[in-house]
Amino acid sequence: MKVSEVNIHRVQIPLRHSFSQSNNSSVLSDSTIVEVITANRCSGFGESCPRLYVTGEDFTTVSNAIQTIENHLKDTVFDNVYDIRNYVMEDLLTQTGPAASTAIELALLDAWSKEQQTSINRMMGATLPDCVFYSGVVPMRSPEATAQVMQLISRIQFPELKLKVDGDLNANLARIMAIRDVFPQQVPLRVDVNCAWSWEDAMTQIPLLLQQGITVFEQVFPSDQVEEMARLQRYFDDDICLMADESLTTLGSALRLVRSGACKRFNLKISKHGGLFNTLEIYHLAQENGISCQLGAHFGETRILTAAGLVFTGLARNLTALEGGLGTLLLEYDLSEIPLQINSSAAISKPEELLNSPGWGVEAVL
Ligand SMILES: [Mg+2]
Repeated sequence: MKVSEVNIHRVQIPLRHSFSQSNNSSVLSDSTIVEVITANRCSGFGESCPRLYVTGEDFTTVSNAIQTIENHLKDTVFDNVYDIRNYVMEDLLTQTGPAASTAIELALLDAWSKEQQTSINRMMGATLPDCVFYSGVVPMRSPEATAQVMQLISRIQFPELKLKVDGDLNANLARIMAIRDVFPQQVPLRVDVNCAWSWEDAMTQIPLLLQQGITVFEQVFPSDQVEEMARLQRYFDDDICLMADESLTTLGSALRLVRSGACKRFNLKISKHGGLFNTLEIYHLAQENGISCQLGAHFGETRILTAAGLVFTGLARNLTALEGGLGTLLLEYDLSEIPLQINSSAAISKPEELLNSPGWGVEAVL
């Protein structure tokens, strides 16, 4: 397979419900969709969600990076899925960036799968579970608005929830009460701080949140404060599980987190690690070092990243939780009319059957 044309699209789809966390808020999704057209005139589509506050990338930097490697990409011959893997891991990620690498990798896998007329699951050797359950994510709102948003979220029986919090302890406790008004205490709740706390905030908030049954704390400090994270994890020891998100992008950042003992869990996201193969490598590193992993998502991911996430669950069977999968529950429309999203039990059932056809299920950028 050879690539003869590359098209890059910015896709911003209105959200049915605005999204907010301590370091970002939006009423639109924001994905970069790359289309590769092969010499056989087969179109492959890939997606990433570049975020300045995560990998330092946005649509413009991703477009520019892809243009710089376009000729090299067109000169490369892909004879099997290992050629795609080697190209992505050895050339692409270092020459572009995680979001650019992800969009191209997923587009190449889509095109190869369509040319070979086989499913991406089969091509990747993934065995998908019968049913995949997702966690609910509660955006950061005022306590009153949290109560309102919980009326919507409670229509889905999420087995686990994550709350976006900030430095306001009283507001955080009120948000938790709003959640507990509709979801019973048995439904595990974790919090995502999105870099908003100082050391003093952590010392004040963690003991009180522990009393609320919360033990998993995601990205409490700014992304470069890895030694502070390690100090906090040591201070509370087994009472808490710190989870790295914004601090965890490339394999190098994963190694730094492992070596410093900065956390007990990784929040993996395909888009911020440079695609499926690079995310798998970080997953294996975590497994070897006793760090658990969940698969997260950027808000507003379309069918392509949802499908890639499902394939990942068939390759990395030991995940503590999965996020995303909202499809048109969050987006006004998706890139395919055939839905790939959770049901009222927060599950995608029989994903193997849903992804049985070649490709991710997207044929055009709407
Ligand atoms: Mg996070």
